[in-house]
Amino acid sequence: MRVAFVGLGAMGACMARNLHKAGLLAAVWNRTTAKAVALAAELNCAAPETLAELARLSDVIVVCVSADQDVFAVIDGLHGGLASRQLVLDCSTVSANTARMVAKRLASVGADFMDCPVSGGTEGARDGTLAIMCGGAAASFTQAQPVLTAMGRTFTHFGPVGAGQAAKATNQIMCAGIIEAVSEAMAFAKANGLPLDKLVETLGKGAGSSWYFVHRAPNMIRESYPPGFRVRLHAKDLGICHDMAAVFGVELPVVERMLAQYAELIAQGHGDEDISTCFRLKDQLFN
Ligand code: NAP
Repeated sequence: MRVAFVGLGAMGACMARNLHKAGLLAAVWNRTTAKAVALAAELNCAAPETLAELARLSDVIVVCVSADQDVFAVIDGLHGGLASRQLVLDCSTVSANTARMVAKRLASVGADFMDCPVSGGTEGARDGTLAIMCGGAAASFTQAQPVLTAMGRTFTHFGPVGAGQAAKATNQIMCAGIIEAVSEAMAFAKANGLPLDKLVETLGKGAGSSWYFVHRAPNMIRESYPPGFRVRLHAKDLGICHDMAAVFGVELPVVERMLAQYAELIAQGHGDEDISTCFRLKDQLFN
C-alpha cells in the first residue's frame, strides 16, 4: 500500500512520520512547499509539485489541514489525479456536512472517502497514539486498517460518512469545558500561593485530573503557550458544535461561553497560541 500525506502542520508532520516508520509513506504535499521538500528529503519519499501528481503516486491519501474550505481546496487539487477505488481519509476537524459533500464529489470519480478526525494532541500524533473517529463504508474502514494502526492506538467506526466528525464534535465540547475548568482552577491555585508544580503532580493523580490538566497546566505555570492546539482551530470546532446544536434549536452553555472567551483571546492577539492560553483570562480575574 502506498500512502500519501497532505498537510504537514503540527499534527500532519508527526502523522506522516509514523506512516514512514510503518513503511507506508510514498509522498507528501504541503501548501507551503518548503515543508514538504524538507520532510521528503528527511524521509526519502516523493514531494510532487501538484496534488494531482500526488494522487497518482498513491493508493490511500491522508489529509490533515485546518478547516472546511481548506479540505475543499485540497479535494479540488486531488480530483484530476484520482482514480477508481482510491481511498481518501480526512483527519481534519470539519463539519459532518463537509464530509458528506466531499464523499459525493469523490464518488463521481469512483474514489472512496472516510472522515477520520483525531484526538490526542500533538503528543498523540507524535507517539502514534491518537484516537481516530471514523465515518464511512465498512469496506473503507477495513481497507484503512494499516494506515489507522500506524497513526493511532484507538480507532472506531461510528457509522456512515459524517459520523466520525459528529463524534469529534462531541469530543470538542468536552475539551472546551475541561480547558476552562483547568484554567480557572490553576488561576485560583496561583492566587492562593500554592506551589503549582507540586499541585499538578498531586492533583494529576486525583479524580479531577484530565489529559489537559496533566499536559497543559504546565504551560500555565510557565505562562508560555506554544501550539499545541491553536485557539483559532478550537474556535472553528466550537462553531461547528454551535451549528450542529442549533439544528435541534439548542444553545450549549459551555460552547457559547468558550466561543466568547476565544473571541476575546483572538482580539488580544492570542489566536495562534495553544488553548491553555485561556489561563490569561482566568488569571486576570484575580488581578
Ligand atoms: P496547523 O499546525 O495550523 O497546520 C495546518 C496545515 O493545513 C498546514 O500544513 C497548512 O499548510 C495546511 N493548510 C491550511 N489551509 C490550507 C489550504 N487552503 N490548502 C492546503 N493546505 C492548507 O494545524 P494542526 O494543529 O496540524 O491541525 C490540523 C487539523 O487537525 C485541524 O483541523 C485541527 O482542528 C485538527 N486537530 C488538531 C489537533 C492539535 O492538537 N493541534 C488535535 C486534533 C485535531 P501551510 O503549512 O502552508 O500553512
